Amino acid sequence: MATKPKLVLLGPPGSGKGTQAEILARELGVPHVSTGDMLRGAVEEGSALGRKVSGLMNAGALVDDGTMAEVVRERLGRSDARGGFLLDGYPRNRAQAETLEAILSASDRDLDAVVLLEVPEEELVARVAGRGRSDDSEEVIRERLRVYREKTEPLVDYYDQRGLLRPVDGVGAIDDVNDRILEAIG
Ligand code: ADP
Repeated sequence: MATKPKLVLLGPPGSGKGTQAEILARELGVPHVSTGDMLRGAVEEGSALGRKVSGLMNAGALVDDGTMAEVVRERLGRSDARGGFLLDGYPRNRAQAETLEAILSASDRDLDAVVLLEVPEEELVARVAGRGRSDDSEEVIRERLRVYREKTEPLVDYYDQRGLLRPVDGVGAIDDVNDRILEAIG
């Protein structure tokens, strides 16, 4: 790729998406745009956005699409994201995928690839339970997995049909998974 890539990282909670996104963004020299981190930051600050989303996040539910559209539009409009970016945590449903397309095409941009981190279900619950975040109780994890299956997993077909999907085996050492991702995006 001559210019820096515009990527989405897709995967269930516990797939190692955040860890891989951080490493990959550094390697590629693009900002790591994590909607989960942005929302948690807002909750910590106690901003209006944070007050709006904290209850939903702690229940494992999705924040509404309109709010997320504003957050992502603003972030992708900043100068550091003009050249390329790695989106982590967005889009999470079909409406968000369509919004993302609209945001990008409004500035003559489009995605280069969507990396799907694949990890079997049994491994996911075990991994997430070890993290100890406030939205990581077993009940909330199950709810987040359920929401992923119902809302986010359909994006696999959505991006496959657009020729953008790059499935990657997410089981194994962090470095090995990173190598596979780099290979998958060429
Ligand atoms: P994960 O552990 O699944 O990687 P994230 O850190 O991406 O979780 O997000 C944590 C929480 O933030 C989600 O459970 C959800 O409540 C909220 N959130 C993050 N991104 C989005 C989004 N694109 N749409 C709706 N809610 C979101």
